[in-house]
Parts: sequence; structure tokens; C-alpha cells
Amino acid sequence: MRRRTLRGAERTPLDEHPDVLICGASFAGLAVARELAGSGADVLVVDRYEIGERATSACAAPTPWLHAMGVERAIRQEIPYMAFHTPHGSARFRLPWSWSSFDYRELCRALWEQTDARFEIATVTSPGAAPEARDPAGRLRPAGRAAGVADGETPVSTDRGALRAPLVVDALGWRRVLAPGPNVQPPDAAISRGLEVHPHGGGTDLDIWIDRSLVRSGYAWSVPADGEQRVGVGSYEPRDHVKEPTRELARRLDVDAVRYQGNWFPHRLRAATEDGVFFAGDSAGHCFPLSGEGIRTAFYFGIACGRELRAVVRGEASRDDALARYDAFSAAHAPAFARALAVQRAIPRIPPRALTALLGLMGRERLCRRAFSWYLEQAHPRFASAG
Ligand SMILES: Cc1cc2nc3c(=O)[nH]c(=O)nc-3n(C[C@H](O)[C@H](O)[C@H](O)COP(=O)(O)OP(=O)(O)OC[C@H]3O[C@@H](n4cnc5c(N)ncnc54)[C@H](O)[C@@H]3O)c2cc1C
Repeated sequence: MRRRTLRGAERTPLDEHPDVLICGASFAGLAVARELAGSGADVLVVDRYEIGERATSACAAPTPWLHAMGVERAIRQEIPYMAFHTPHGSARFRLPWSWSSFDYRELCRALWEQTDARFEIATVTSPGAAPEARDPAGRLRPAGRAAGVADGETPVSTDRGALRAPLVVDALGWRRVLAPGPNVQPPDAAISRGLEVHPHGGGTDLDIWIDRSLVRSGYAWSVPADGEQRVGVGSYEPRDHVKEPTRELARRLDVDAVRYQGNWFPHRLRAATEDGVFFAGDSAGHCFPLSGEGIRTAFYFGIACGRELRAVVRGEASRDDALARYDAFSAAHAPAFARALAVQRAIPRIPPRALTALLGLMGRERLCRRAFSWYLEQAHPRFASAG
């Protein structure tokens, strides 16, 4: 694929101070921008790549969420069934709602069309101030502000120069680039790793394997996407490699291990605001721990963040109010995330035969409905239309 990142002389200096600066143009960043459409704010979105250029996942999300976001044209295949496999058997569930695999570029375009933001390609390198401009807690000292940065503005350094805005969002993914101070990174962070291949293929179900001969602590998947299969392995243990397990899964499924794509994804909530910056999506650990599902939660928390920013832009709230409210909103989800993390930790300890029996039980209609309805409820698509 031709990389559309600006190169050399095209990378002209940027000197921008919009009302809202959104760093990251994927699920979370575009959801924030979409929520600000029509607010009258000058919104600038920056990303190191062109919008939609680099898919960051297997691109499967609950179908009702894709409709709620108005991006259904990106759907490649609707998937009403999930099948769980262990070395001792399989259980197939018809879900109370379906998954859909989608085309990443098309989805990003569809989100972008719903915004009235501006876009620039730029790589965010750090929070904007030099380390000596921060106090021991990592907060910016007023006297240490970069030249031209007014009180109440947050500076952001990029490879095209310093940007500043009163409202700044870090939707940059797991690296949490705009966090102040030392930023815990893999393998020490509470983070999982995933890798997948994208061979030609088909299928009707979203298949999940829980098989320790593939991955000690984690799971493997195959997502059909209308002529393509997204086949991969995720490990909750960041020190365990996933390349060989992914190849092994491709061998077992008799598909080609081609078109690799991998990344880290967090499995613990982190502070949703820090040092005057709003964090949404993976940067705030908004990826659901058990399933590693982070697209709908990036939408959900991105929308919540966008609504708080909108109130500030309209003069209905101060920036500090918005920071406090968004932080509290995110923190209110901690119990559900903790429960999911506890199940994530428990699954590898369950003897495989007992796990197979449990999955069989889950296949019963009432239990399946209850479990998957609870799961969707944690970030329900009705939230998208409630604003
Ligand atoms: C292999 C794999 C498969 C997955 N499959 C699924 C799935 O099917 N369904 C699901 O719900 N979740 C899935 N996930 C998790 C999901 O990908 C993430 O939770 C989700 O992408 C988070 O969205 P985000 O917008 O917060 O961050 P990201 O999607 O990671 O987007 C971050 C954006 O910031 C940009 N960026 C990063 N650093 C910089 C920088 N320094 N300067 C400028 N721009 C920068 C990136 O280019 C990108 O556009 C998967 C994860 C992996 C690793």
C-alpha cells in the first residue's frame, strides 16, 4: 500500500492554535470530532497518517454501534454467530445482537464526513513543554510555558512544530503520548499484544479459540469479512510472543499467513484526564479487558468526551468542569472493567475440560442472552443517539 504520510518538503511547519486539538484520527479521535460538529468550534485533528490509512484492528464491532454511528456503509459482513473452541469441544452461540466486520478506510471516511473539523498530518512527539517546565507531579509550571502559549492553553509538540489549544484530546492509542511524566510501557504496562494475518477466505461465524497449545494466556480468533479472513492471536501476557502462534493458527486453518498487522492494546483503565488533557480510547485504557474489544468503547468514551468539550465551547461549562465530569464518567466504568479483568485472569486457570463444559452451558439461550446483553450494556449504542 502506498504510504500517504507527508514526506520531506511536504512536511511544512505548522503553527496552529485551534479551539480544540484532537490528536489521533482513528475510532476515538474521530468520535470526538464528530460530536463537535456544528458546535462552532475550530477543531483540528492531527494524525501521523492520512485518515483511514492504517487499520489498527480486526475491525469487528457490534452491528448496532455501526448503525448508531451512521457508518453502516463500511460493513463488509454481518456475523450473527460466535463459536468458541477448546481442545475438548466447541460451543456455537446465536447472539442477541450481531457483530459486523467492516472496512477501516471506509469507516474512517464515513466518520470524517460527519465532522466539520480540519485535518493535518503530523506526528505528536510529546506534551509540549520541556521537562524542566513541569513540577514534580508532571504539571506544567505557569512560568515554564512554551513561548506563545497562553494561560489555560495546552502545548503539544509535533514533528511539524508546536501546536497549542485550550482543549486538547489524546486519542493516540496505547502509547498515551501526551501523558506527563514517566509513562509505563510494555512489557511492564497492563497491556495485551495482538497480531493477525489477512488471507483470502470466508466463513459465517466469529470463531474464538481458547487453547493453551496456541497461547498460554489469551485467545485466537478468525473474523470473516466478505472474501477476507482476519485470523489472529492475542496474549494477555505482554511478554509472550504471538507471531509463531498466529502462524500456527493459520496452518491449522489452512490459510496463508499474509498481510500481517499487529499492535498492543490495554487491559486496564487509566486516568481519563491528566494535566489538562482529555484521554479517550486506548490512551485511557478504554479497551474492554476480557475481549480486547476497543472500537465500540473508543466510540462511546469519544462521544462522552466530545459532549463535555461541546459544553465548554458553548460557554455552558468551564474546562475544569469538563475535565472533572469526563474523568468521573470514565471512572464510573471501573467496576465493569475490573470484573472483565478478573474473568480474563480466571480463564487461564480453569481446567480446559471444565471451561469447555462452562462454554456449553453458556450456549443455552437464556444464559447466552443474559451474558451478551450485559456485555453490550457496558457501552450501549443507545448512548450515541442520547446526546
Ligand atoms: C490485532 C488486533 C486486533 C484487534 N481487533 C479488534 C476488533 O476486531 N474489534 C475491536 O473492537 N477491537 C479490536 N482491537 C482493539 C482495537 O484495535 C483498539 O482498542 C482500538 O483501535 C482503539 O482505538 P483508538 O482510536 O483509541 O486508538 P487507535 O485505533 O490505535 O488509533 C490511534 C491513532 O493515533 C495515531 N497515532 C499514534 N501515535 C501517533 C503519534 N505519535 N502522532 C500522531 N498520530 C499518532 C495512529 O496513526 C492512529 O490513527 C484489536 C487490537 C489488535 C492489536
